[in-house]
Amino acid sequence: MRSLAFFDERYPVRTVFTDNGDLSVFAGLLTEDAVKSPLQDYLRTPLRSVMIADERHSANVLAVSGQAGKRRRMTEYNGGANSDGGYDALVTDEPGILLCVRTADCLPLFLYDTEKHVAAIAHCGRIGVCGGIVSRTVGVMTARFGAAPAHLVAAFGPGICAGCYEVGGEVIAAFSERFPRRELEELFRAKQNGKYLLDLGRAAAFELMRAGVPAENIRGVEVCSYESENYPSYRRGGKTDFDRQTLSGIVLL
Ligand SMILES: [Zn+2]
Repeated sequence: MRSLAFFDERYPVRTVFTDNGDLSVFAGLLTEDAVKSPLQDYLRTPLRSVMIADERHSANVLAVSGQAGKRRRMTEYNGGANSDGGYDALVTDEPGILLCVRTADCLPLFLYDTEKHVAAIAHCGRIGVCGGIVSRTVGVMTARFGAAPAHLVAAFGPGICAGCYEVGGEVIAAFSERFPRRELEELFRAKQNGKYLLDLGRAAAFELMRAGVPAENIRGVEVCSYESENYPSYRRGGKTDFDRQTLSGIVLL
């Protein structure tokens, strides 16, 4: 397990992301005593509940109030049969609620409002980013919790880097619906084989900046999941079971 120093060393918030050595952590979350998992020891703060996004590559955001946070939502990553449409980001202003996403090449995006003490985490794949998950997460932080984009800090956990994420031309067409030409020119780099390299972290950063987050408040992808054997990678290792992905979380103190 590791943390984002950019957050933990400067603000009253704790972050965590797991690697291939932490598979038992996820198993621990499946038990009734989820809040007593090794995550709590690592985070050095009492957890009231652990919530994991019901990921569908959607642009849906779940606002977690103190009331909702009391109910542990531990069932929803089993294919999401119990919820409609799922959600790929979580936001709260309640201390002690660990908000989590799972990834294996997609980017976990951590967000924190340094003035209003609001935290969020989002699962950012190319479909979700194209669908607006980043701007909608910022939108829920501001509209529902009174956060201000100018006070947000943002960072990405492990995910696929700009040098590794090969996509076809159809992805450019999809992104052109959301990103202006000058940004597309930065996001896609043509390869010799007719394919393109996509800088997904930069795409998410463009979305953050468009929403008003200062560029200097945004940190890039922590480590490339495709290049590092320590992290689950869909592209390197094939389809990854839900309990063998990287778990990233953020909790307010
Ligand atoms: Zn890479």
